[in-house]
Amino acid sequence: MVRRGLLGGTFDPPHVGHLQIAEEARRKLCLDEIVFIPAGLPWVKASMKVSPARQRLDMIKLATAGKPYYSVNDLEVRRPGPSYTWQTLQELKAHYPNDELYFILGWDNLTSLPSWHHPDRIIASACLVAAPRVGSPRPDLHELEARVPGLAVRTVILTEPEIDVSATTIRQRVRLGEPIGHLVPPPVAEYISANRLYRGN
Ligand code: ATP
Repeated sequence: MVRRGLLGGTFDPPHVGHLQIAEEARRKLCLDEIVFIPAGLPWVKASMKVSPARQRLDMIKLATAGKPYYSVNDLEVRRPGPSYTWQTLQELKAHYPNDELYFILGWDNLTSLPSWHHPDRIIASACLVAAPRVGSPRPDLHELEARVPGLAVRTVILTEPEIDVSATTIRQRVRLGEPIGHLVPPPVAEYISANRLYRGN
């Protein structure tokens, strides 16, 4: 049986925060593999301008290249319409029926999970692994359990690492002409530069 971590995100762009929470979850929970899943059309960011899925897919592939236990799955990019996590997890559970699935997310996203579509189906398909997010309070498992019964026993709260970075900050830095080399892997920085991403209007 494979212990498979799943890290979904917009990855616009992927950054050291994503890679470090993946690594911490892998170590702490002895995960065999981690699958990165770029969102096609992220429903929570529907009103925001998001880079084309093709470019975000290219970047997450560049960011994860060279690690044999990392892979990228484009099922959300291929699926038409908004990307819903419950649907993705159900599909992956059907695809890997004998695996234990661990959905990795930041504290900010765990706190908002009760307002996602079908949180009950999410915890039925995967355990949750929540990594600290600078600026977000530690999720209150009692409160979350009251809103999504069964969530607490399916959730692991990590207390490390604390990486103060977001894709929003990186896009802003590029727009302002500030360096981002310490925030994204070198091939991603090169891709952003070569494709003139985030330069603004
Ligand atoms: P944006 O700033 O555009 O909202 P983001 O940096 O939050 O993007 P996403 O791709 O939306 O990146 O995040 C994917 C997942 O990774 C989410 O669960 C998010 O909480 C988590 N995450 C992203 N950055 C960090 C970080 N620095 N520390 C902990 N978790 C993070």
